[in-house]
Amino acid sequence: MARIVVKCPICSANLSIDNKKKKYRCSFCHNRLKISESEIVVPPEFSDEIHGKGFNNHYFLGYFIIFFGFLGIDFFIKKRYKKGIIAILIFWTGVSLIQAVFRAMEVLSLEDSEINNYYKELK
Ligand SMILES: [Zn+2]
Repeated sequence: MARIVVKCPICSANLSIDNKKKKYRCSFCHNRLKISESEIVVPPEFSDEIHGKGFNNHYFLGYFIIFFGFLGIDFFIKKRYKKGIIAILIFWTGVSLIQAVFRAMEVLSLEDSEINNYYKELK
């Protein structure tokens, strides 16, 4: 369980809620809302919890990229959404697959603690 911050789509207040809930009630405008319809503003101090421990293990993540990296799934997990969307758009060319193999080799050579920085600094 982790807490996330969502932005209420009606009054745009920021609310801290349990990320396992599907629905919540805004404490400012009292509307019942769905998490899926709200913008999620994740506080950085919780981001490791939300990403899941497995995705910060370089062995697990490296092999995950070999299987799913051609669709950019690891980019979405690490919140590099633009890179993930590009990977999906070009996956049929085979370029994403080659990039994923190189990315997997780099991730496998990193220390676990370097993984989040690697994704942050990825151009
Ligand atoms: Zn509200």
